[in-house]
Amino acid sequence: MKISRKKKGINKLPAGFWGMSKPVMGVVVVIFLIIAGVIFYLRASGGSGLDSTIESLKGQMQWMKCNNPSCGTTYEMDKGEYQQYLKDHPGEVMAYLGNPPLPCKKCGEQSLLPAIKCPKCGNVFFKGAMGKGEFADKCPKCSYSATEEKRKRKR
Ligand SMILES: [Zn+2]
Ligand SMILES: [Zn+2]
Repeated sequence: MKISRKKKGINKLPAGFWGMSKPVMGVVVVIFLIIAGVIFYLRASGGSGLDSTIESLKGQMQWMKCNNPSCGTTYEMDKGEYQQYLKDHPGEVMAYLGNPPLPCKKCGEQSLLPAIKCPKCGNVFFKGAMGKGEFADKCPKCSYSATEEKRKRKR
């Protein structure tokens, strides 16, 4: 894959972003291309598609968790507001592979990320908190996973 073709956007990314090992780099490039494609698609649809997405998401809540170890606060955020932030900060979306941290309401650090609330014990955690090989929505506190439950029921 030729990376040179995508050089234009690279300069906009923060320093250090490309200082990673080659296998990781390969994965990053693939994800980068997917995101570029998605953004292109959204642009192609005139941007109004995104606006109507934001409108349709308004009123729906998304759990957020601060990744700052000394803060760790969790709260619900309007999904429309979240999408609006992503729309207003395309550079960050690119740099963080579509998942940029938002400024935390409590500590002010840019370390707020979407999280999942465990339907069983109420613990709020990041997707994939249990690591690879486990369901992404598996709760690190009580080990409940809605995906796992669904699969179990299907059998
Ligand atoms: Zn915080
Ligand atoms: Zn739980």
